Amino acid sequence: MSKVNYKSIEEIELIRESSLLVSKTLGEVAKLIKPGVQTNELNNIAESFIRDHGGIPAFLNYNGFPYSLCISLNDQVVHGFPSAYELAEGDIVSVDCGAILNKFYGDSAYTFPVGKVDVETYKLLEITKECLIKGIEKAVVGMRIGDVAHAVQEHAERNGFGVVKELVGHGVGYKLHEKPEVPNYGKRGTGAKLEEGMVIAIEPMINAGKAAVKFWSDGWTVSSMDGKPSAHYEHTVAVKRGQADVLSTFSYIEESLKQNK
Ligand code: MG
Ligand code: MG
Repeated sequence: MSKVNYKSIEEIELIRESSLLVSKTLGEVAKLIKPGVQTNELNNIAESFIRDHGGIPAFLNYNGFPYSLCISLNDQVVHGFPSAYELAEGDIVSVDCGAILNKFYGDSAYTFPVGKVDVETYKLLEITKECLIKGIEKAVVGMRIGDVAHAVQEHAERNGFGVVKELVGHGVGYKLHEKPEVPNYGKRGTGAKLEEGMVIAIEPMINAGKAAVKFWSDGWTVSSMDGKPSAHYEHTVAVKRGQADVLSTFSYIEESLKQNK
């Protein structure tokens, strides 16, 4: 088992640059989220944007993954493929993006409503985003991975949602996936100690229904077993004293969504 890679202040700044490229890419994708747009188009705009800014799409060819974005619709949890499918009013679409810039990795994801979605689905999006915030609040020196995990789980389950257990967050920076694993469920006060220099991707994957998932025969796509919607939000976060330093941001996305209206 490999060890946690601790990053210097300078390295964290480089990971911030990579994470900001990911965030800006998601901001570009956000401009296209509307009924009638093929999910292929989201992938293509992201790939071009990353390359035009000197980066490399981190997911493309990662363990053979064939696209630059993971695009997961409705009941799909994560790792879905872009396709000729056209977004439709009432869909939700999760877009996960990674980029390498100056050899460092950033990773972030956001689930978008397409037009108006039903009330329960909208609540799923809001609660999952709040789960991410609650996890980030625990990503400070002195806490443990289990404190982050527990905060996410508690908020999701209190609202009647299912926490996906089979897939987890992770250390990030020199590689896309490093130690430690960052589950979305767990016990307070357990797991690896959080220390200065750790950079982790916190990424709640929350189901509107039950927690169980199925793995598709395409080798990648994961969807909820009961067919109900699933949401996914992710930030790349540096552990700090007092308050975590969130290296990615949703501000570009939010700006684009405002202008879509
Ligand atoms: Mg990701
Ligand atoms: Mg990730």
